[in-house]
Amino acid sequence: MSKKEKSPMKKYTLKDLRKDFPTEEACLEWLKDRRYPDGIYCKNCEEVTPHYLVVSRKSFSCQNCGHHVHPTAGTIFHKSSTPLTIWFEVVFRMAQTRMGISAKQIERETGVTYKTAWRMCKLVRQQLEEDKDPFDSDDTVEVDESYFGGVKKGGKRGRGSENKTAVIGLVERGGRVVTEVIPNVKKATLQPIVEENVEKGATVYTDELRSYNGLAEAGYNHAKVLHAHEIYVIGDIHTNTIEGFWGNVKPGITGVYRHVSPAYWQSYLNEYAFRYNHRNDVTPMFVFFLSQMSRKSAHLL
Ligand SMILES: [Zn+2]
Repeated sequence: MSKKEKSPMKKYTLKDLRKDFPTEEACLEWLKDRRYPDGIYCKNCEEVTPHYLVVSRKSFSCQNCGHHVHPTAGTIFHKSSTPLTIWFEVVFRMAQTRMGISAKQIERETGVTYKTAWRMCKLVRQQLEEDKDPFDSDDTVEVDESYFGGVKKGGKRGRGSENKTAVIGLVERGGRVVTEVIPNVKKATLQPIVEENVEKGATVYTDELRSYNGLAEAGYNHAKVLHAHEIYVIGDIHTNTIEGFWGNVKPGITGVYRHVSPAYWQSYLNEYAFRYNHRNDVTPMFVFFLSQMSRKSAHLL
């Protein structure tokens, strides 16, 4: 299938969720299958042995020796007093939305407290960070800096306002996006990020910000879009893809997530980037989200 071809994403509904994951048992079984696809290796028996589910301990116990393994170990679900069925529903709701969903909405939909909802959303979001391989040298990558938030009293926003957060986005045409919260848009900030994420030799399109000067010397096929002259597209030279991505993120961030502290910006961006990067996949978004949740979390102590 070509990258541009839109594949119909199979819709995974709340009804499907209730059918697939009606109980703690079902959730634990799913996690077990996900984490031990070849069966559970028992440390004591030193072989793969049959295990049975012990729901009260959220574990699987070796039939031969009784040794327990916890399929939630190391994940964001571990040692949580919230039932897995609710965790899965939160993951589902976060996967389904395009614009984002607030902790307040999660509180309403699932009945957990606001504090719990907020913490769950935070953990899910952090877990959406994907491994970042650099873009290839034969890729065309649009790079663009942007500003988010920074709403002053009176509602002014933009480059001049105080609480704005600078971000950089790099998107491969027809491919995935990488975003990063940055302290400023100076050359010393932007260029190392480009060099870290894009292999030398790649075609890089940016706007005319002077901070991008020097990318050609650094080994990129660099061209600038001359916004100041109201020339937005010259042939192939444009940054419409990344601007389109920002255009999708901004309504959510300024609407649903408008009170987000800058400390959490990166994880909010990860959430949008994750959805964008899997936008054309046939597998339901929920399954991607859930798979990502079954991985060990680097954010937990
Ligand atoms: Zn054993």
